[in-house]
Parts: sequence; structure tokens; C-alpha cells
Amino acid sequence: MLRHIHVEITRNALAGSFSDRALDVIIAANLKQDRLLALIGHDEYHFDSNAFTQSYAYLEEQRALTVSYIETNDIPSAWSAFGKMIHAAQDFYAHSNYIDLWLSCQPDGALPTPSEVDPLDEDLIHTRALRSGRIYLPLEALYFVRPFRPLMLRILPRDSHAWMNLDSPEQGPHFHYAFQAAVKRTKSEFDKTAFRLPQNLLKLFIDM
Ligand SMILES: [Zn+2]
Repeated sequence: MLRHIHVEITRNALAGSFSDRALDVIIAANLKQDRLLALIGHDEYHFDSNAFTQSYAYLEEQRALTVSYIETNDIPSAWSAFGKMIHAAQDFYAHSNYIDLWLSCQPDGALPTPSEVDPLDEDLIHTRALRSGRIYLPLEALYFVRPFRPLMLRILPRDSHAWMNLDSPEQGPHFHYAFQAAVKRTKSEFDKTAFRLPQNLLKLFIDM
């Protein structure tokens, strides 16, 4: 997803749940996951290339780190680990076909609004039909260079990130479902993490 989209999703989901300074650190860590060195060879940071198992392991690793940093009173590191975790959770909806599958499961003729999207349909999360876009280097890198984009789309296969992504509104109406699903999922990752913390530690984490 584009940088400003990650910011918007995170603020929509978490404003009011954290102090401003905590949210700033969480957002900075979230955005840092899209630096060049974290884009190459780190499918698990972005749910790319069907790396579902590795991506879920990464989410839980960052959640465990978040909790252990809070327990050792290193709160800024806890915010960073949490920011990295929600980056991956948000990318899931932009890089996989989850939204396409969810929409195709709706009863005939029904078109739910984006805010009705269920971000955690257990059947879809575990279906063998779930796929995420493959990163075909070096062509995929050229897809990000505007003037090369039409040519890259002609060359790259349909299972590539270039064809499958819902990274921005430009990718069509399904983007809005990915956006709303990512907002809901971010809230749910916060709840899941907060649930592990006793009141005094939760207070430290949210910094309020
Ligand atoms: Zn990403």
C-alpha cells in the first residue's frame, strides 16, 4: 500500500487508543517496512508471494516482542514492533485475493458496502484458493516506475503483485474494501495485543 494509505488506515484505526507521540512512533515503524531493503527478500513483512505461514509467524513474533518490550519497560521499542506488525496485517488485504474471494462469496446480486467487509472470515483465511501476488524481480521493481508500468503489466504474469495489488484507489473499487478491512484488522490486532496485558502495562503501552 502507498505510504499515505498506511498512515490513513493506522490513524483511522488507532487514533484515540494511543497518545499522539506513541502513534507517531507506530506509524514511523509501519512506514519503514516499505524501505528498499525491507521490500526485497522479506515477503513476510508484506504477505507477498504466498508467504502466508511466514507472515503469520512474523505477526506473532512482533506481537510477542511488543509484549516483552513493555514488560521490560522499553516502550518505544514496543511501539516499533507493534507498527511493524500492523504493516503486515494491513498489506494482507492489498496483496492477497482475500477481498475478491470475500466479494465472490456474497449471495447473488448482493453488493455489500466496503464498511461491511469481514476482515477475518475464517473459511477464506484458510481456503486453498487464497493467493498473494508474487514479486518477480527485477521486472516488479520497474512496475513502480510510472513510465514503465504499462509495459511491465504486459510482460508480468497475472499472479504478480503488479496485477493483483490493491495498493491504491487507482486499482479500482475493490481498493475501498481492502482499506476498510485493513482498518478493522488493525483494531483487532490492537485488541488481541492489549488483551495480553495487565491494566498497568496497558496504560504504559497506550501512553494515556
Ligand atoms: Zn508493505
